[in-house]
Amino acid sequence: MDSVMPDFVDFFSDTKTRPTPAMRAVMAGAEVGDERAGEDPSVNRLVERCAALLGKPAALFLPSGTMCNEIALAVHCRPGDEVICDRTSHLIGFEGGGPAALAGVMLNPLTGDRGRFDAGQLAAALRPDRPYAPRQRLVEVEQTANLGGGTIWPLAQLQAVAAAAHGRGLLTHMDGARLLNAAVATGVSAADYARDFDSVWIDFSKGLGAPGGAILAGSAEFIHEANRLKLRWGGAMRQSGIIAAACDYALDHHVERLADDHANAAALARGIAQIAGLEIDLASVETNLVYFAVMHAGFDAPRLCAALLDRGVRMGEMGPRTVRAVTHLDVDAAAVDKALAALRELLA
Ligand SMILES: *Cc1c(COP(=O)(O)O)cnc(C)c1O
Repeated sequence: MDSVMPDFVDFFSDTKTRPTPAMRAVMAGAEVGDERAGEDPSVNRLVERCAALLGKPAALFLPSGTMCNEIALAVHCRPGDEVICDRTSHLIGFEGGGPAALAGVMLNPLTGDRGRFDAGQLAAALRPDRPYAPRQRLVEVEQTANLGGGTIWPLAQLQAVAAAAHGRGLLTHMDGARLLNAAVATGVSAADYARDFDSVWIDFSKGLGAPGGAILAGSAEFIHEANRLKLRWGGAMRQSGIIAAACDYALDHHVERLADDHANAAALARGIAQIAGLEIDLASVETNLVYFAVMHAGFDAPRLCAALLDRGVRMGEMGPRTVRAVTHLDVDAAAVDKALAALRELLA
């Protein structure tokens, strides 16, 4: 797209980042070996580094965040078990039915506040162990909550939810696709957010700007079983140190700068709030995801996104009147200005 339109700006997703020249240089020079045999030094170093970052005894390199979620569900649960999550959870609408097809679990969706339920809501969903009911086994949270608006779970709320789960014998899993966005936004460490969770993962292909890769972390026993599924499902790679080197580079150079993405998202949101025909709750924009409503006689979300695309600005339609814009490594303050100018022109 950008090859035909030089100043094209892409707010569709933070997955649209491309490896920077410096990241590519590090990849080209990466020390590699046979990952599947445990012989890739770059992967091994990344795994050790991320276990420490996430405060867990063990970790595993996987191709994607989706595989982290699906493997975690399958290790924690038996077929027929119930997983409790928010109704906006990535598990429900974006993983190809994996929870049903791969782990064979039931999902029990709760209606949280912008993707975040509380301990009281969880307690209300917990049942006595009845032979006719699915076994309730796992509580899943997303930090940040993607379809919730990039919202951040407060640490105390996570701790209360995990305590309610553990108190009834359930396990806990954190989808940390954007955990580092939350950590940068609040100053609470990733390890502190993940402390009460039996498993957690981070994604390198979102705002961190690597071409792929994710790290799943947990206890040594959990990771031992997760590695078995990694091999069974064909997730083991060979000289994947090429990718791990990009992830390692991203941890060095692309974490603190997530604050720039948050500032750009806030600026975009403030501009949107000034445009008649668009509605946004400024307080809801906590990190790099900006959701707004198109309440204009001439435009719904699909028509607005199509018209923006004609002007070299891509955003995502998330519903008949809902648009999502995501800030990341490849969109700067000038891109925000361009997007706002296009919106003003269209809706004037
Ligand atoms: C992107 C995303 C995933 C999946 O990660 P991939 O690396 O794209 O497979 C899972 N959960 C959330 C909240 C995400 O945003």
